[in-house]
Amino acid sequence: MADASTQVVILGAGHAGGSAAAFLRQYGFDGPITLVGDEPIAPYQRPPLSKAWLKGEANADDLMLKDESWYAENNCRLLLGVTGAAIDRAGKTVTLSTGETVPYDVLVIATGARARKLTIAGADLEGVLELRTAADAEKLKAAIGPGRRLAVVGGGYVGLEAAASGRALGAEVVIVERESRCLARVACEPLSTFFQDYHRQHGVVFELAAGVEAFEGERGHITGVRLTGGRVIACDAVLVGVGAMPNEEIAREAGLPCDNGVLVDLEARTSDPSIFAIGDVTHRPLPLYERTHRLESVPNALEQAKLVASAIAGRPLPAAEVPWFWSDQYDLKLQIAGLPFEADTIVVRGEPASAKFAVFHLKGELLQSVEAVNAAPEFMMGKQLIARRTPISRERLADPAVSMKEVAA
Ligand code: FAD
Repeated sequence: MADASTQVVILGAGHAGGSAAAFLRQYGFDGPITLVGDEPIAPYQRPPLSKAWLKGEANADDLMLKDESWYAENNCRLLLGVTGAAIDRAGKTVTLSTGETVPYDVLVIATGARARKLTIAGADLEGVLELRTAADAEKLKAAIGPGRRLAVVGGGYVGLEAAASGRALGAEVVIVERESRCLARVACEPLSTFFQDYHRQHGVVFELAAGVEAFEGERGHITGVRLTGGRVIACDAVLVGVGAMPNEEIAREAGLPCDNGVLVDLEARTSDPSIFAIGDVTHRPLPLYERTHRLESVPNALEQAKLVASAIAGRPLPAAEVPWFWSDQYDLKLQIAGLPFEADTIVVRGEPASAKFAVFHLKGELLQSVEAVNAAPEFMMGKQLIARRTPISRERLADPAVSMKEVAA
């Protein structure tokens, strides 16, 4: 248990880092906290950047995790626009981009992830955009509007959400995807098909199984995306949404084991007992599935922030959670619980044509994950069934006349 003299330094002032500071105070830790973030603004939520904020339905204040005044009022030294440059594990200090050296008793690495870049000709043209930060989102917002042509490279969640918001703002949107379907890495085929159809109905054009060869430009500004084979999709801006990479370099350089993320245990502790890592930057155990994985989601950032705050404040560790995620596109609310590891059967409950259905992934009789579209009961009960690890009947699951409560009984 830490005491009031324990110095906690949190590197990365995003969703995980900002939440860890808040939970530490909530759980009664009263030692000094230093929260170091390289962005110019206090911790904020990223999900609305591709959804409500982009469409103009939320403002910058709505995104903040806490008012900026909270940090001073809670003895949390918030350093913004400052990068953690190196960790000295022997001396227990962090060197900052300002030249300052900050001592720590406990260090929390919460450096998140960054947008993956395409290293192709024209990638540095003006109008080639990515979407990770509020600053990125400002540029994207300025680029989309009635009649503007937006090309989105990558049909993952960020790309699809930006496409839906782009359509809501009157832009013409083309999604260019390398695989033969959108969401290929993260969702099953029925869900991909459903989302593609829904986007098409809303005027989005898909170029599937399409490689991107180069970005073409005139006078330094993007004019088109050249596909493998030479065809050019004309556009005024392109959003590159091809995934994210963990900001693990600072941990790696300090000798902490990393493998697509900083390796942590069930308490979010790294191989160094004085250093924790939380959020998108971690490669973590998933006890439910007896494997490790790197998750990119707000619930994961919050779960690990609670773990680390509990460990530091000397509270019992919270129980392991079922991973979950959501995505909003048009009037669709997609909620996903669990991960479909080793699933051998898919059960679709409800009619995709009604835009209210759920896809369950089973391994034998055990539920591994559920993808629910406008189907909150399926999501909530599915999440409980995943945690429970008891056999369930596929026939009852597939029959919408049997309520989810009855399926679980
Ligand atoms: P981040 O929020 O990325 O924060 C890390 C911070 O650390 C950043 O500010 C970074 O600049 C900073 N940093 C990095 N290195 C250093 C350093 N050396 N020194 C100082 N600071 C540093 N998740 C969902 O669950 N649902 C959604 O609908 C959803 N939508 C999303 C939409 C978009 C457009 C994006 C980008 C993400 C979305 N996510 C969503 C993912 C979610 O936002 C992330 O999982 C979450 O932000 C992870 O929190 P984090 O603190 O680990 O990382």
